[in-house]
Amino acid sequence: MKLLVTGGSGFIGSNFIRHILDTYKEYSVTNLDALTYAGDEHSLDMYNNDIRYSFVKGDICDTRLVDELVSECDCIVHFAAESHVDRSITEPLAFIQTNIIGTYILLESARKHGMKRFHHISTDEVFGQLTEVDPPFSETTPYDPRSPYSATKASSDHLVMAYFHTYGLPVTISNCSNNYGPYQFPEKLVPLAITNLILGKKVPVYGDGMQVRDWLYVEDHCEAIDVILHKGVLGETYCIGGDGEKKNKEVVDAILFTMDKDASMISYVTDRPGHDRRYAISHNKITDELGWSPKVSFEEGIVKTVGWYKDNILWWEKKKS
Ligand code: NAD
Repeated sequence: MKLLVTGGSGFIGSNFIRHILDTYKEYSVTNLDALTYAGDEHSLDMYNNDIRYSFVKGDICDTRLVDELVSECDCIVHFAAESHVDRSITEPLAFIQTNIIGTYILLESARKHGMKRFHHISTDEVFGQLTEVDPPFSETTPYDPRSPYSATKASSDHLVMAYFHTYGLPVTISNCSNNYGPYQFPEKLVPLAITNLILGKKVPVYGDGMQVRDWLYVEDHCEAIDVILHKGVLGETYCIGGDGEKKNKEVVDAILFTMDKDASMISYVTDRPGHDRRYAISHNKITDELGWSPKVSFEEGIVKTVGWYKDNILWWEKKKS
């Protein structure tokens, strides 16, 4: 199988390419990535001499380039996106361009070249926020995005499904909760906290730190995408979660504990505008129908992640500045 992976130099995309190339010796991967601030081609340096891997620096909004690459592959796994909510509040246009227009350009090209499958990676943030007593999000939860980031991801999800219903494009979608693990850009909560603590700096926590997210170790997410790619029913959406509901303050406390630090290293900062209070997501459908469930507990995942950032300072130290 020849896979075209978009955004493969980012956090989840690079972990996914590693998972695929290490699991399926007969597969090849082309990684199309624009190398924005969030992309780092060196995250996949271990495959520089592997003929099954090729890297193309380019934009998913470049129709001609996309057409050329899509014509050479069997399946598309689409990660490329602007992904940081705070940046979407100050610069929404880049999100509209990549997340909506870029997805449209890929879909059009996939339609033209007859893909076997187009798998679209999305987020639980498209469903809005929950109160403390609401049941978790599932595949039937109505969309209610509340930030420019989640609105553009919701828009791209709708386009993907429209291409299934209108043109019969063989698509699947996954909506996943918060990921953490190796190779995540140090602007997101978990790597921000770990790298600040390694540098002796305090960890900023928004508002009262009581916002709840479901946390999933990135390798578990990659396995879920693998399962959907091979067994997922076309036209279906799968919700992916880690059974790891935690308040942001609890996440930071777990990192402080793992790194032998105390609460004096927390600095509470003004909350993000429109900050969603709680996300939680049920993975019952993918578990019942495709047999996937998360393997790595939050406690184990945090220890592995802290270890990785301690061992890979060269990867992240320039990104901090
Ligand atoms: P990331 O920001 O780490 O990586 C995004 C990658 O896309 C980068 O390598 C960047 O260079 C590339 N990119 C951006 N714009 C591009 C363009 N126009 N053309 C080509 N490449 C471009 O993001 P991530 O955290 O790895 O997220 C990947 C996907 O997973 C996104 O679609 C995101 O919405 C989704 N997602 C992320 C999480 C999470 O917790 N990180 C959770 C659920 C879903």
